[in-house]
Amino acid sequence: MMTILLVKTALAWEVQTTDAGEAYHWAEMPLPYLWVDEGAPDLPALEGAIDGSFAAWAEVSNARIEVRSEEGTAPPRIALDDIHTVFFEHDWPVGDEALAVATSWADASGNVVAYDIRVNASIPWSTTGAQTAFDLQAAITHEVGHVLGLEHSEAADATMYASHAMGETWRRELHADDREAIHFVYGDTEPLDGATGLGPGCSTTGAAPGWLLPIIPALFLLKRR
Ligand SMILES: [Zn+2]
Repeated sequence: MMTILLVKTALAWEVQTTDAGEAYHWAEMPLPYLWVDEGAPDLPALEGAIDGSFAAWAEVSNARIEVRSEEGTAPPRIALDDIHTVFFEHDWPVGDEALAVATSWADASGNVVAYDIRVNASIPWSTTGAQTAFDLQAAITHEVGHVLGLEHSEAADATMYASHAMGETWRRELHADDREAIHFVYGDTEPLDGATGLGPGCSTTGAAPGWLLPIIPALFLLKRR
């Protein structure tokens, strides 16, 4: 008798997939982003934190990811358009415990074509490692991971873990688990199909505008016991 075991090692990451099992992915590099400072709190080095969030993924050596900071201004709003923004939302629709949320639009093949990232303006944020606030760069890094197609990880130390606590600046650095996940989708040697994404996590899928499906995962705050 032969027994076949399918082992997924100790990795805890998942990727977002279409119903057909295609991994969601940003197909055309670079991934552009526009920081919108309208409505943002007065935090030191805020733009640097945003840049660092995107750069964390671009710096993964074995993944084909490029990012580009866009010049100009745009209104702070969610829209299926060519302007992909990061902004603070004061009229927060997702629930008090959600820190940030990325809304992405993808076609049926899994090509992500548009996104916007909202940050909950009613949450205390820090760019300097304050222990009484949530780390903005870590949270945005998490949301960029969603835009790139990653689902939440079960690894508690991963940036893609579903909850962040106050003062967790160390989540700015990608965990090995995050790196494995992004390599799976953007690596040079791995195919894009055959994704292992299984669980829905906290993603929700709403009504589709035309042929594009919005994907809306949120990052939740972790309450200390
Ligand atoms: Zn999330």
